[in-house]
Amino acid sequence: MPENTAAPAAGSAPHIEFRDVLKRFGDNTVLQGLDFTVSRGERVTLIGPSGSGKTTILRLVMTLEELTGGYIHVGGVPLQYEEKGGKRVRIPDKRRRRTTTDIGMVFQHFNLFPNMTVLENIVEAPIHVKGLSRADAVSKAEGLLAKVGMGEKRDMKPSQLSGGQQQRVAIARALAMDPEILLLDEVTSALDPELVGEVLAVLKDIAAETDISMLIVTHEMQFARDVSDRVMMFDQGSIVEEGPPAQIFSEPAHQRTRDFLRAVL
Ligand code: ADP
Repeated sequence: MPENTAAPAAGSAPHIEFRDVLKRFGDNTVLQGLDFTVSRGERVTLIGPSGSGKTTILRLVMTLEELTGGYIHVGGVPLQYEEKGGKRVRIPDKRRRRTTTDIGMVFQHFNLFPNMTVLENIVEAPIHVKGLSRADAVSKAEGLLAKVGMGEKRDMKPSQLSGGQQQRVAIARALAMDPEILLLDEVTSALDPELVGEVLAVLKDIAAETDISMLIVTHEMQFARDVSDRVMMFDQGSIVEEGPPAQIFSEPAHQRTRDFLRAVL
Protein backbone atom coordinates (compact mmCIF):
# COMPACT_ATOMS: atom_id res chain seq x y z
CA MET A 1 0.00 0.00 0.00
CA PRO A 2 1.41 3.44 -0.82
CA GLU A 3 2.42 5.29 2.30
CA ASN A 4 1.70 8.86 3.17
CA THR A 5 -0.59 9.54 0.23
CA ALA A 6 -4.15 9.01 1.39
CA ALA A 7 -5.60 12.06 3.09
CA PRO A 8 -8.78 11.60 5.11
CA ALA A 9 -11.98 12.93 3.53
CA ALA A 10 -12.53 16.67 3.80
CA GLY A 11 -14.07 17.66 7.10
CA SER A 12 -13.14 14.50 8.99
CA ALA A 13 -9.71 15.48 10.32
CA PRO A 14 -8.32 18.85 11.40
CA HIS A 15 -6.94 20.68 8.40
CA ILE A 16 -3.82 21.69 10.33
CA GLU A 17 -2.71 19.88 13.47
CA PHE A 18 0.25 20.78 15.71
CA ARG A 19 1.04 18.03 18.18
CA ASP A 20 3.67 18.55 20.89
CA VAL A 21 5.59 20.86 18.55
CA LEU A 22 9.05 21.91 19.61
CA LYS A 23 11.09 24.46 17.71
CA ARG A 24 14.54 25.66 18.66
CA PHE A 25 16.93 28.03 16.97
CA GLY A 26 20.25 27.02 18.53
CA ASP A 27 19.77 27.45 22.28
CA ASN A 28 16.64 29.52 21.84
CA THR A 29 13.52 27.41 22.41
CA VAL A 30 10.80 29.27 20.53
CA LEU A 31 7.94 26.73 20.75
CA GLN A 32 7.74 24.11 23.44
CA GLY A 33 5.09 21.38 23.32
CA LEU A 34 2.63 23.38 21.25
CA ASP A 35 -0.73 21.74 20.48
CA PHE A 36 -3.50 23.23 18.38
CA THR A 37 -5.71 22.45 15.40
CA VAL A 38 -7.34 24.44 12.62
CA SER A 39 -10.50 23.00 11.08
CA ARG A 40 -11.24 23.07 7.37
CA GLY A 41 -12.48 26.50 6.36
CA GLU A 42 -11.62 27.98 9.74
CA ARG A 43 -9.89 31.39 10.05
CA VAL A 44 -7.56 31.50 13.01
CA THR A 45 -5.59 34.61 13.95
CA LEU A 46 -2.47 34.53 16.08
CA ILE A 47 -1.85 37.62 18.19
CA GLY A 48 0.78 38.36 20.80
CA PRO A 49 3.99 40.25 21.43
CA SER A 50 6.80 40.36 18.93
CA GLY A 51 9.13 37.38 19.27
CA SER A 52 6.48 35.05 20.71
CA GLY A 53 6.80 32.56 17.84
CA LYS A 54 3.86 33.45 15.58
CA THR A 55 5.79 33.75 12.32
CA THR A 56 7.71 30.57 13.15
CA ILE A 57 4.39 28.71 13.32
CA LEU A 58 3.44 29.82 9.80
CA ARG A 59 6.92 29.03 8.46
CA LEU A 60 6.69 25.53 9.96
CA VAL A 61 3.37 24.90 8.21
CA MET A 62 5.01 26.05 4.96
CA THR A 63 7.99 23.76 5.77
CA LEU A 64 10.32 26.75 5.51
CA GLU A 65 11.68 25.72 8.93
CA GLU A 66 12.81 22.35 10.21
CA LEU A 67 10.75 20.93 13.06
CA THR A 68 12.84 20.21 16.18
CA GLY A 69 10.30 17.95 17.90
CA GLY A 70 6.69 16.77 17.67
CA TYR A 71 4.45 16.52 14.62
CA ILE A 72 2.60 18.74 12.18
CA HIS A 73 -0.11 17.24 10.02
CA VAL A 74 -1.83 19.01 7.14
CA GLY A 75 -4.99 17.37 5.83
CA GLY A 76 -4.11 14.36 7.99
CA VAL A 77 -0.71 13.94 6.28
CA PRO A 78 2.49 14.36 8.33
CA LEU A 79 4.83 17.09 7.05
CA GLN A 80 8.38 16.35 8.18
CA TYR A 81 8.16 13.59 10.80
CA GLU A 82 5.78 10.71 11.33
CA GLU A 83 5.14 8.30 14.15
CA LYS A 84 6.08 4.75 13.24
CA GLY A 85 6.12 1.89 15.72
CA GLY A 86 6.07 4.40 18.58
CA LYS A 87 9.11 6.23 17.18
CA ARG A 88 9.44 9.67 15.63
CA VAL A 89 10.82 9.14 12.15
CA ARG A 90 11.94 11.73 9.60
CA ILE A 91 10.06 11.41 6.32
CA PRO A 92 12.52 11.07 3.43
CA ASP A 93 12.52 14.07 1.12
CA LYS A 94 11.22 12.10 -1.83
CA ARG A 95 8.17 10.99 0.15
CA ARG A 96 7.48 14.38 1.65
CA ARG A 97 4.19 16.01 0.97
CA ARG A 98 4.35 18.70 -1.71
CA THR A 99 3.02 21.32 0.66
CA THR A 100 3.59 24.35 -1.49
CA THR A 101 1.09 23.22 -4.07
CA ASP A 102 -1.89 23.53 -1.74
CA ILE A 103 -0.67 26.02 0.84
CA GLY A 104 -0.25 29.68 -0.11
CA MET A 105 1.71 32.15 1.94
CA VAL A 106 1.76 35.93 1.75
CA PHE A 107 4.74 37.58 3.42
CA GLN A 108 5.29 40.92 5.09
CA HIS A 109 7.71 42.02 2.33
CA PHE A 110 5.68 40.79 -0.69
CA ASN A 111 8.59 38.72 -2.11
CA LEU A 112 7.58 39.25 -5.73
CA PHE A 113 10.14 38.38 -8.40
CA PRO A 114 11.52 41.87 -9.19
CA ASN A 115 12.59 41.09 -12.77
CA MET A 116 9.19 39.71 -13.83
CA THR A 117 6.02 41.59 -14.72
CA VAL A 118 2.95 41.34 -12.53
CA LEU A 119 1.44 38.76 -14.87
CA GLU A 120 4.62 36.67 -15.05
CA ASN A 121 4.82 36.65 -11.24
CA ILE A 122 1.36 35.11 -11.10
CA VAL A 123 1.57 32.54 -13.90
CA GLU A 124 5.03 31.23 -13.01
CA ALA A 125 4.07 28.63 -10.40
CA PRO A 126 0.79 27.49 -12.00
CA ILE A 127 2.72 26.73 -15.23
CA HIS A 128 5.93 25.31 -13.76
CA VAL A 129 4.67 23.62 -10.61
CA LYS A 130 1.09 22.69 -11.49
CA GLY A 131 1.60 22.16 -15.20
CA LEU A 132 -1.18 24.49 -16.36
CA SER A 133 -1.05 25.58 -20.00
CA ARG A 134 0.12 29.14 -20.48
CA ALA A 135 -3.27 30.15 -21.89
CA ASP A 136 -5.13 28.75 -18.87
CA ALA A 137 -2.66 30.27 -16.42
CA VAL A 138 -2.94 33.70 -18.05
CA SER A 139 -6.71 33.61 -18.13
CA LYS A 140 -6.80 32.64 -14.47
CA ALA A 141 -4.25 35.32 -13.56
CA GLU A 142 -6.31 37.97 -15.34
CA GLY A 143 -9.38 36.98 -13.33
CA LEU A 144 -7.43 37.18 -10.09
CA LEU A 145 -5.83 40.51 -10.99
CA ALA A 146 -9.28 41.93 -11.66
CA LYS A 147 -10.43 40.59 -8.32
CA VAL A 148 -7.63 42.36 -6.41
CA GLY A 149 -8.12 45.55 -8.45
CA MET A 150 -4.86 45.21 -10.40
CA GLY A 151 -6.14 44.35 -13.88
CA GLU A 152 -4.59 47.49 -15.41
CA LYS A 153 -1.11 46.75 -14.07
CA ARG A 154 -0.48 43.32 -15.51
CA ASP A 155 2.53 44.36 -17.61
CA MET A 156 4.25 46.45 -14.96
CA LYS A 157 7.24 45.47 -12.87
CA PRO A 158 6.87 45.30 -9.08
CA SER A 159 9.16 48.34 -8.64
CA GLN A 160 6.62 50.47 -10.53
CA LEU A 161 3.90 49.68 -7.98
CA SER A 162 3.08 50.96 -4.51
CA GLY A 163 3.54 48.61 -1.55
CA GLY A 164 -0.22 48.07 -1.34
CA GLN A 165 -0.38 47.20 -5.03
CA GLN A 166 2.56 44.81 -4.74
CA GLN A 167 0.90 43.10 -1.81
CA ARG A 168 -2.33 42.71 -3.78
CA VAL A 169 -0.33 41.07 -6.57
CA ALA A 170 1.27 38.76 -3.98
CA ILE A 171 -2.21 37.78 -2.79
CA ALA A 172 -3.29 37.05 -6.38
CA ARG A 173 -0.12 35.00 -6.87
CA ALA A 174 -0.91 32.89 -3.80
CA LEU A 175 -4.50 32.35 -4.95
CA ALA A 176 -3.39 31.33 -8.45
CA MET A 177 -2.31 27.98 -7.01
CA ASP A 178 -5.85 27.30 -5.68
CA PRO A 179 -4.58 26.86 -2.13
CA GLU A 180 -6.66 25.06 0.46
CA ILE A 181 -4.77 26.94 3.14
CA LEU A 182 -3.64 30.56 3.11
CA LEU A 183 -0.98 31.75 5.57
CA LEU A 184 -0.85 35.50 6.06
CA ASP A 185 2.24 36.80 7.84
CA GLU A 186 1.83 40.42 8.91
CA VAL A 187 0.88 41.32 5.36
CA THR A 188 0.28 45.00 6.12
CA SER A 189 3.18 45.66 8.50
CA ALA A 190 5.52 47.00 5.80
CA LEU A 191 2.89 49.31 4.26
CA ASP A 192 2.38 53.01 4.69
CA PRO A 193 -0.75 53.47 6.82
CA GLU A 194 -2.84 54.83 3.93
CA LEU A 195 -2.24 51.62 1.94
CA VAL A 196 -3.26 49.16 4.65
CA GLY A 197 -7.00 49.46 4.03
CA GLU A 198 -6.89 48.42 0.36
CA VAL A 199 -5.02 45.21 1.19
CA LEU A 200 -7.27 44.30 4.10
CA ALA A 201 -10.37 44.97 1.98
CA VAL A 202 -9.14 42.47 -0.63
CA LEU A 203 -8.47 39.87 2.06
CA LYS A 204 -11.88 40.38 3.66
CA ASP A 205 -13.51 39.76 0.26
CA ILE A 206 -11.49 36.57 -0.19
CA ALA A 207 -12.43 35.41 3.30
CA ALA A 208 -16.10 36.08 2.56
CA GLU A 209 -16.14 34.47 -0.89
CA THR A 210 -14.05 31.33 -0.36
CA ASP A 211 -13.77 28.51 2.14
CA ILE A 212 -9.96 28.58 2.26
CA SER A 213 -8.62 27.78 5.73
CA MET A 214 -6.55 30.70 7.00
CA LEU A 215 -3.86 31.08 9.62
CA ILE A 216 -3.21 34.76 10.10
CA VAL A 217 -0.59 36.74 11.98
CA THR A 218 -1.54 40.40 12.20
CA HIS A 219 -1.30 43.48 14.34
CA GLU A 220 -4.49 44.83 12.76
CA MET A 221 -6.94 44.02 15.52
CA GLN A 222 -10.02 45.26 13.66
CA PHE A 223 -9.14 42.98 10.74
CA ALA A 224 -8.65 40.08 13.18
CA ARG A 225 -12.06 40.81 14.64
CA ASP A 226 -13.69 40.97 11.20
CA VAL A 227 -12.29 37.80 9.61
CA SER A 228 -11.44 35.39 12.43
CA ASP A 229 -13.49 32.51 13.73
CA ARG A 230 -10.97 32.13 16.53
CA VAL A 231 -8.17 34.22 17.99
CA MET A 232 -5.21 32.66 19.79
CA MET A 233 -3.18 34.85 22.09
CA PHE A 234 0.47 33.77 22.23
CA ASP A 235 3.24 34.65 24.59
CA GLN A 236 6.68 33.07 24.68
CA GLY A 237 5.70 30.24 22.38
CA SER A 238 2.58 29.05 24.13
CA ILE A 239 -1.12 29.82 23.90
CA VAL A 240 -2.22 32.12 26.71
CA GLU A 241 -5.89 31.91 25.74
CA GLU A 242 -8.08 31.41 22.70
CA GLY A 243 -11.66 32.02 21.72
CA PRO A 244 -13.99 33.84 19.34
CA PRO A 245 -12.80 37.39 18.61
CA ALA A 246 -15.67 38.99 20.52
CA GLN A 247 -14.55 37.15 23.65
CA ILE A 248 -10.80 37.72 23.30
CA PHE A 249 -11.11 41.41 22.40
CA SER A 250 -13.98 42.33 24.71
CA GLU A 251 -13.55 40.03 27.69
CA PRO A 252 -9.97 38.71 27.75
CA ALA A 253 -9.55 36.30 30.64
CA HIS A 254 -5.82 36.77 31.16
CA GLN A 255 -3.84 39.75 32.33
CA ARG A 256 -1.21 39.15 29.64
CA THR A 257 -3.89 39.44 26.93
CA ARG A 258 -5.29 42.60 28.55
CA ASP A 259 -1.79 44.14 28.69
CA PHE A 260 -1.10 43.21 25.07
CA LEU A 261 -4.41 44.58 23.79
CA ARG A 262 -3.99 47.79 25.79
CA ALA A 263 -0.60 48.28 24.11
CA VAL A 264 -1.80 47.69 20.55
CA LEU A 265 -5.35 49.08 20.47
P1 ADP B 1 6.81 36.62 16.19
O1 ADP B 1 6.30 36.29 14.83
O2 ADP B 1 5.83 36.32 17.27
O3 ADP B 1 7.35 38.03 16.28
P2 ADP B 1 9.00 34.87 15.51
O4 ADP B 1 8.40 33.55 15.21
O5 ADP B 1 9.39 35.75 14.36
O6 ADP B 1 8.04 35.66 16.50
O7 ADP B 1 10.31 34.67 16.38
C1 ADP B 1 10.31 33.92 17.58
C2 ADP B 1 11.71 33.79 18.07
O8 ADP B 1 12.48 33.00 17.19
C3 ADP B 1 12.47 35.11 18.22
O9 ADP B 1 13.24 35.02 19.40
C4 ADP B 1 13.34 35.13 17.00
O10 ADP B 1 14.52 35.86 17.25
C5 ADP B 1 13.65 33.67 16.79
N1 ADP B 1 13.92 33.34 15.37
C6 ADP B 1 13.01 33.38 14.36
N2 ADP B 1 13.57 32.99 13.20
C7 ADP B 1 14.87 32.70 13.48
C8 ADP B 1 15.97 32.25 12.69
N3 ADP B 1 15.85 31.99 11.38
N4 ADP B 1 17.14 32.06 13.33
C9 ADP B 1 17.28 32.29 14.63
N5 ADP B 1 16.28 32.72 15.43
C10 ADP B 1 15.08 32.93 14.87
